[in-house]
Amino acid sequence: MPNIHRPLRLNVGFMLNQTAGYVRVMDFAEDKFSIGPDLRVTAFSGQIQLGRTPQGVIVQGQFAATLPTECVRCLKPFAQSVRTHLQDLFVYPPPNPIDPLLAIGEDAILDLEPLLREYMLLDVPMRPLCTPECRGLCPVCGTNLNLSDCGHRSQAAPPSPSIRITSSAQPPEG
Ligand SMILES: [Zn+2]
Ligand SMILES: [Zn+2]
Repeated sequence: MPNIHRPLRLNVGFMLNQTAGYVRVMDFAEDKFSIGPDLRVTAFSGQIQLGRTPQGVIVQGQFAATLPTECVRCLKPFAQSVRTHLQDLFVYPPPNPIDPLLAIGEDAILDLEPLLREYMLLDVPMRPLCTPECRGLCPVCGTNLNLSDCGHRSQAAPPSPSIRITSSAQPPEG
């Protein structure tokens, strides 16, 4: 087995003997790692509070990271910032059948990885843009219009300004 860095697999054995109300805060900071098998993130940071309850351990906190993605308009790769909050109860002892997303195993491992992966993917915009003003690619020749103006744009499609300027200003009465 390769030695994979998995900072989100928390051994909470020290909490399981505590009474309800026991609280522990944990901080996270990683330059670069993979959440689950496929979700590579950089600039990962977060803080959570683990609280022992009669039902298990409740996790509250937030994480921030950047995800490599691609602009839907110009196809440029860029790093999308993502923030995720979570507030979830991890049940202990684990129910039968076990829900691996929200249970602490008999080995006292509380694995935030699958849950956080789902949350982060949900927080990625459906249409990521490198910048809100991205001008995209020319539909005629494919030039990246952020980098240069090929001259096709004026004849291809009329610009669609979001703000329409009207000249219906009337002189004030009186
Ligand atoms: Zn773009
Ligand atoms: Zn063009």
